[in-house]
Amino acid sequence: MRKIYSKALDKNLEVSRIICKIEGKKPGPTIIFMGGIHGNEPSGVFALQQVFSEIKKKKKDIFGSLFALSGNLWALEKGVRYQKEDLNRLWTEDSIKKIIKSGNNQLSEDALQLKEIYKTLVAIIENHSPPFYFFDLHTTSGETIPFITVNDSLLNRKFTKQYPLPLVLGIEEYLEGPLLSYINELGYVAFGYEAGQHDALSAIENHVAFIYLSLYFSGVFKEKDPAFYQYFEVLAKSSIHRIHFYEIFFRYQILPREHFKMQPGFVNFQPVKKDQVVAFSNNKKIKAIKTGKLFMPLYQGQGEDGFFLIKRVPKIFLKISSVLRRVRFDKLLPLLPGVSWASGTKNALLVNKKIAWLFAREFFHLLGYRSKQVNKTHLLVKNREEAAKYEDYKNEKWLN
Ligand SMILES: [Zn+2]
Repeated sequence: MRKIYSKALDKNLEVSRIICKIEGKKPGPTIIFMGGIHGNEPSGVFALQQVFSEIKKKKKDIFGSLFALSGNLWALEKGVRYQKEDLNRLWTEDSIKKIIKSGNNQLSEDALQLKEIYKTLVAIIENHSPPFYFFDLHTTSGETIPFITVNDSLLNRKFTKQYPLPLVLGIEEYLEGPLLSYINELGYVAFGYEAGQHDALSAIENHVAFIYLSLYFSGVFKEKDPAFYQYFEVLAKSSIHRIHFYEIFFRYQILPREHFKMQPGFVNFQPVKKDQVVAFSNNKKIKAIKTGKLFMPLYQGQGEDGFFLIKRVPKIFLKISSVLRRVRFDKLLPLLPGVSWASGTKNALLVNKKIAWLFAREFFHLLGYRSKQVNKTHLLVKNREEAAKYEDYKNEKWLN
C-alpha cells in the first residue's frame, strides 16, 4: 500500500497496484483503467477509487470485469512525475524485454513499476475474455478543457467518437514508448484521456464523468439511464464548439540542458498565428511555424515536449481514409519505385527518402500509416490497422 495525496481534495488515499476491481455476474467486456502513470497526476486515481466504490454500493447490473490500476506508485507517493525515466516512455518492445530480464537491483524505480504493471496486464489479459478496453487517465500542467488522445486506428476512431470531446489523432508519431501505443499494437481499443489541470477539482469531476461514460459506451452498463445523460452533459459543456478530430502537425522537443519556458497565459487549444511567439529557448524566442492551435503547452519542470501544434481534420478526410483503409489500398504501394514492405507481415513500409517527398505525410496518414525515421535514407511507416483485433469487437454496438 502507498499513501498518495490529492491537493484538489486535500485528502490522502492508500492504494496498491490494483486500486479496485469488480467482477460482473454477467459476461461482457474486460475494462482496464490506468491512473497516475505520471506520479504528479493523482486525479485519475482518486476518481477511480470514487467511481468503483459508488458502483459497488449501487449494486448496478455489471456486464464483464472492471479493473482500476495505479501507474507509477513510487512517484505518486512522492507527488513527482517520475524518478529517472518517464514511465510512459518505456513501453517499446526492446525496453520491455530488457527490463523484464534485468534483476530488480539494476532497475530504476520507474522500470520496476513497468515490470509490475506489465505482469499485472498480462495476467488480466490471460485470465479474462475479450473485448478489451484500455483507458489511460492523465492531467496536464496547464489549464485545459478535457480531451482524448488517440492512436489513429479505425477501431479507436469509432469508439472515441462516442464521447462529446475533442479527439486528437497521431500523438504516437511524436512520442516513443507510451503505454497506449504498446497496447494498440496488440490490437486493442486503447486511448488516453486528459481531464484538466493536475490539481484542479474539475479534473477529478471530469475524470468521474469520463469513467462512467466509458462504462456505458463499452457495454458494462447496458441501459442509458438519467445518470448517463448527466455525465455526458458534464463533458459536453466543457468542450462545446471543439468536438472534432484534430491532428498534430508539430512538436517542440526540449533538448537536454535546454532552458525552455512557455510564454505565460496560453491555454490548451488556443489558436496561434504563424510566427507568433509562444515560448523561449535559452531566452530566445520560439515562434509558431504555422497557424494552428496550441496543444499541451508545458508549464512544469519535468518533461521533454514543450508544446504541440494541431489542426482540425476535415470530415471528408476521415471518410475517405476509412474507405481506403477498409479496401487495404495500401497493398498497392509497394508497386511504386522506392517503396517496399519492411517485413513479411506487411504491416510496415520502407520508403526511400529520395521519393518520400512525393507523398505528403497526410497521404500515409490517410491509409493508416504513421511514420518514424529509421535511418538516413529510409523512412519506416507503420500500419495501425494490421494488428487491430476486429473479430473481438464485431458484435459491439458502437462498431455497428
Ligand atoms: Zn500524464
